[in-house]
Amino acid sequence: MAYKLLIDGKLVDGAATLDVIDPATGAVFETCARADAAQLDEAVAAAKRAFPAWSALPHAERRVYLERLADAMEARFAEFCTLLTREQGKPTPQAQFEIGGTVAALRYFAAQDLPIELIRETEQEKIVEQRIPLGVIAAITPWNFPIILLMLKLAPALAIGNTMVAKPAPSTPLTTALFGELAADILPPGVLNVIVDANDLGARLTDHPDVAKVSFTGSTATGKRVMASAAGTLKRLTLELGGNDAAIILDDADVKTVAPKVFDAAMINAGQVCLAVKRVYAPRPMMDALCAEFARLGAEAVVDDGLNQGATIGPVQNKAQYDKVLALIDEAKSEGRVVVGGEPLGRDGYFIAPTVIRDLPDDARLVREEQFGPVFPVLAYDDLDEVIARANDSDFGLGGTIWTSDPDRGMAVALRIHSGTVWVNKHLDMPFDIPFGGAKQSGLGREQGVDGMKEFTQAKIINIAKR
Ligand code: NAD
Repeated sequence: MAYKLLIDGKLVDGAATLDVIDPATGAVFETCARADAAQLDEAVAAAKRAFPAWSALPHAERRVYLERLADAMEARFAEFCTLLTREQGKPTPQAQFEIGGTVAALRYFAAQDLPIELIRETEQEKIVEQRIPLGVIAAITPWNFPIILLMLKLAPALAIGNTMVAKPAPSTPLTTALFGELAADILPPGVLNVIVDANDLGARLTDHPDVAKVSFTGSTATGKRVMASAAGTLKRLTLELGGNDAAIILDDADVKTVAPKVFDAAMINAGQVCLAVKRVYAPRPMMDALCAEFARLGAEAVVDDGLNQGATIGPVQNKAQYDKVLALIDEAKSEGRVVVGGEPLGRDGYFIAPTVIRDLPDDARLVREEQFGPVFPVLAYDDLDEVIARANDSDFGLGGTIWTSDPDRGMAVALRIHSGTVWVNKHLDMPFDIPFGGAKQSGLGREQGVDGMKEFTQAKIINIAKR
């Protein structure tokens, strides 16, 4: 069965088809419709036509539509999980977590409204702020969390009255296409459109005069192109981009408690997480004990097809990323010491043994760049001011973690980190009511929370003379 595009309420074939590869085998396992520029234009036109009626509905009615979508997704939970593992590679429990989170995000944001806010009322005047939807939103998503990252855009954007054209990454289009299939039966035509490309239609979408806002999640390099392209029509933008998050382990931390948490924070989803731990800083006297724990954890990890029970780390999602990560590992091996791993697995698919490398110079590519794979460097530090400066010495500023037995000390260090989120003694805790986003070249704007909802609206002031 070829997965279809969703344009103006209809599931349609593409002008071409796209092969989708299972990263656990390296072989094609499905095909998906692939749109051309004319179909993209039709999708934007359909979203534009649908906007007046959808935005005019009371919030409570839009909420009912979105709740029905959540019910429909829940009814096909197992199918979504398997499809996600096959297209993306993540182990089944992580796929279940992503699909469960996607349904929860849909329900949470469906219930959120931004009512008119009274700013001031006196005998003479009344001033209020109304948040109005923007129009057609282009949602462009990457391949690491293909469906939950879409839902963090779709659910708030539609709940507040916008319409949407969604464009997944070409290597993971299927869960988005399956969601489009559900939407075809539930949403009014044009409210959601799904376009699949081969990395060739993004620029047309971000440049399109009828797109009011681009909500983009992906790499910093592409984010810069999106920003330049959106300038022509002064589109609103949210950019959730790359990171190079530091984990700073303080000298009071218990190595055996902290090591597995830091290892998981780096290796979840085979390290393909924007907010993953991407470099670890440890006090010099702790290095040997910590690296011994990482070596044990790396050796114990079960690297396998995500569909196989017991797999803890799946393959890298695509061949280009696999080659990039292996090249980074090779380079790092010549500059530092391998603690564990360092090689691909000798089997089909894009499997790399979880790899830890110590004693690299600060200017090594594995330290300075975003690796986005199952490898991280461990670097020694001698004092706190120095390690904070080294952690902050990056063009990125997405997240970061502090590990300590004293949460107050953790907070004191967190206050000095230049990033959008800092966790102390935990990682990836992202409640829907808490905004997240990047500092520096990790992004612009916020998703989730009231701040995130507001990014899908325009503020309008109404200022009334009462007499
Ligand atoms: P990518 O930038 O290569 O692609 C992201 C999306 O942009 C894809 O859908 C792609 O088809 C599309 N695209 C490509 N060229 C385009 C163009 N010129 N204009 C518009 N769209 C275009 O990113 P990726 O490799 O798919 O994802 C990995 C990156 O995403 C990592 O850097 C990761 O840190 C980042 N990421 C960030 C967050 C966050 O919330 N900050 C979350 C997940 C991933």
